Amino acid sequence: MNIDKMPAGREIDIMVAESVMQLSVCRCLGVPRVCGMDMDVCMDCGRQLCPCYSLHIVEAWKVARKLKWWKAETDLGEDGSVAWHFRQGTPPRHKWFAAQADLAPLAICRAALKLVNEMGMSFTNDNS
Ligand SMILES: [Zn+2]
Repeated sequence: MNIDKMPAGREIDIMVAESVMQLSVCRCLGVPRVCGMDMDVCMDCGRQLCPCYSLHIVEAWKVARKLKWWKAETDLGEDGSVAWHFRQGTPPRHKWFAAQADLAPLAICRAALKLVNEMGMSFTNDNS
């Protein structure tokens, strides 16, 4: 799967919720989500409705905080693409994580999934 091609929406949100935020969220198809109200619980399965990480910046910042990303920078490519870079830690002990996306919430989600794919959950022990 090419993470940089995943669109914003339910699929990437569930991946972020489970693999990055370590939440157990509703996977029921057809249950509408109410973005920005993460206290909502699914009436069918009793789990928390998946936050809209890839669409709402308020939700996406929770992911960035969890990963201890303190700085974000953007580059505009000649083809109009936008590359985002997120810095974890402070120099000289720091790492950058990158993703392409037009909008910040989706860039955060894509970069977060790449980080987890590369490093597993070891990020939780970084910089501590
Ligand atoms: Zn459910």
